[in-house]
Parts: sequence; C-alpha cells; structure tokens
Amino acid sequence: MCAIPFLNFEPMHKLIRSEIMQSFQDVYDSNWFVMGKKLELFEKEYADFNNTKYAIGVSNGLDALHLALKALKIGKGDEVILPSNTYIATALAVSYIGATPVFVEPDTNTYNINPANIEAAITPITKAIMPVHLYGQACDMDAIMVIAKKRNLFVIEDNAQAHGATFNGKVTGSFGNANGTSFYPGKNLGALGDAGAVTTNDEDLQKEITMLRNYGSEKKYNNEVIGFNMRLDELQAGFLSVKLKHINEWTKQRIEIANKYNCALKNIGDLVLPIVHQGATHVYHLYVVKTKNRTELQKHLSDKGIGTLIHYPIPPHLQKAYSFLNYKKGDFPIAEEIANTCLSLPIWPGMTEENIECVCNAIKSFFK
Ligand SMILES: *Cc1c(COP(=O)(O)O)cnc(C)c1O
Repeated sequence: MCAIPFLNFEPMHKLIRSEIMQSFQDVYDSNWFVMGKKLELFEKEYADFNNTKYAIGVSNGLDALHLALKALKIGKGDEVILPSNTYIATALAVSYIGATPVFVEPDTNTYNINPANIEAAITPITKAIMPVHLYGQACDMDAIMVIAKKRNLFVIEDNAQAHGATFNGKVTGSFGNANGTSFYPGKNLGALGDAGAVTTNDEDLQKEITMLRNYGSEKKYNNEVIGFNMRLDELQAGFLSVKLKHINEWTKQRIEIANKYNCALKNIGDLVLPIVHQGATHVYHLYVVKTKNRTELQKHLSDKGIGTLIHYPIPPHLQKAYSFLNYKKGDFPIAEEIANTCLSLPIWPGMTEENIECVCNAIKSFFK
C-alpha cells in the first residue's frame, strides 16, 4: 500500500502557514472585507506575473470567462469556437451570454485545440475563439492568433489550468483580448475557496469588467450597466498574494515530477504519456496518461491506495445540459477517445521521490 492521494495540499500549506495566518489577521483586524487593499495589491502582482497591463480579481474562473465574453459584447446570435474536450465551464460561459458554442477537435498529441481545424468551423456569425490551455500545456497560440487576426475574431484564453505556461516565450493569459483564469483551490495557483481573474492589456475592457463585476457600478450607488456581484474578497486576495510568491517554485516541482514519470513510464503496455508541443511549455496542472485499459488501471491503482481522476469522462457535446445542440456520439471522435482513455496521475508540489516510485511501480505491475 502506498496511500498517495490524487492531490495533497499539506506540503504547500505547511510551508506558508504563518504567512497565511498573518494575512488572515491583517484582514480580520482591518475590518475591511470586500474591494480593498489586498485585492488591489493582488491584482497588481498577478498582472505582473501574467505579463499583462491588468488583472481584475473576480469570484471564480467561470465568472472570469463570462465577464470577458460579456465585456467584448458577444451575445445572442453569435458563435464562439472552443475545444471539444474542455471542462464544461468554457462552454457554460458561452451559453451564459446567449451565444452558441462551436466545438473544434483537439490535436491528438497535445489534447489542445488544433489550429488546423479552426478555420473550417468559422462562419459569418463567429465572433471569438476560446483556446483552453488544457492540463497546463500552452496551446499553439501563434497559429491561433494568426487565424484570429486574419478572420477578425476575438480571442479569450481559458487559462484556468496553466498559470505561468508559455508559448514561444510569451505567457498564457496574455495573448487574447481578455482572458479568464481560475484560482479554485486545486488549480496550480489556488485560493482557499473560490476565486478567479480576468487578464487583459486593454484599458477599456479593464474598466468595463471592473464595473461589471461590482453591480455595474464605478461610483457607489451609480449603476451604469446591468452588472453582477462577481467580486474577489479580501481574504482570498490576501491568500493568493502569499501563494503567488511560491508559484514558480511549485511549478518547477510539478515539471520535475512529470519528468520522472516520463522516464519511468516509457514504453509500458499501451500507455500514452503527455507530449509537449514545440514552442510550448507545460506546467502540469495535471499529468494525464491514456490507455485502453483505463477503468482497470484506475481500479488497480485505487486498490493500492493511489488516487487518480478522469479529466474529463464526458465531453461537453455529450452532456445532458447540451442535448439541445443535437450532437450525438461519434460527432467528435478525438474528444470522445480522450474521454474514454485518459487518466490523471497524482501530481502535487512536495510529492516525494518515494511517492513517485510507488505510483510508477504500481502502474508497471498492472501492465506485467
Ligand atoms: C477550473 C476550470 C474552470 C472554472 O474555474 P472555476 O473557478 O471552478 O469556476 C474553467 N475552465 C477550466 C479549463 C478549468 O479547469
């Protein structure tokens, strides 16, 4: 038995415990809980990290994507292109604004949206492309930006899984017009509750989104647009500032763990390991393998005390919520094949050499 959970916050949280407690005390003693100095500071710090002029802290990643689309005035009668194998949130954000999600198949190696398939999906009512840097690997943003420019489309990156990843040296979340990210606890940069941010270089969009997240109001009790309550509170902003100082070290550890998996799990059965695209970096939010024997492998690992998850078992086009789009099984075979064969192995900063070996040995014993 190994007893290795899929995700373990303990090593990270032990390290920052006193900083987190201090940040909690700061907020507690300030008696100021929403829209204050901690948020202002974190927004500056995250914009710096993300190499954008602005970051607007919001309630969660889904709301960040929703606000980005809304501020770009995309809505009813518009189509938005997104990968067929993303987490449901990307599609939901498109639905919230009344637009139609149009799914495009991913690259079979990287699992990220395949730029070669995008142009065929563009129609006269397409308004935007939403690339998702899935599992932590940057999409081929150069190719995507060329298409967007040529066809006059907005780009909204879903950067929930890829804080700090780069494509040809440029950080994800800094390519698009406005981009959403999530600080859900389990993400690479995670709050101690729900949180997210929009990143942008566009001052007008920054103003609009800042207004939209706070009741459509710039000046208290003056409501200029029908806004939302999608704010990031002071406690979470403070915790995120503490964690942001460690994200580069934690990402480095994730990459080291992934490299060890890559070495130890080479040429085993039909196991397919992650492939990183030329020009891209991968921050390994998830370490995802594929095998035709996924169900059995997951059970084998579970019996040995090793936690795994499936990201994701049902692609958006086959979800009941999207049955009104009238897709059927077989419409997006690449997304469906990934959904049927993928398995995410444990990966978290602080995972020991022993932990990694234990996972690898358990996988090897399954394929023997
Ligand atoms: C987590 C996630 C989201 C949504 O973030 P929340 O903070 O949970 O709302 C959106 N897209 C992707 C790809 C995600 O992984």
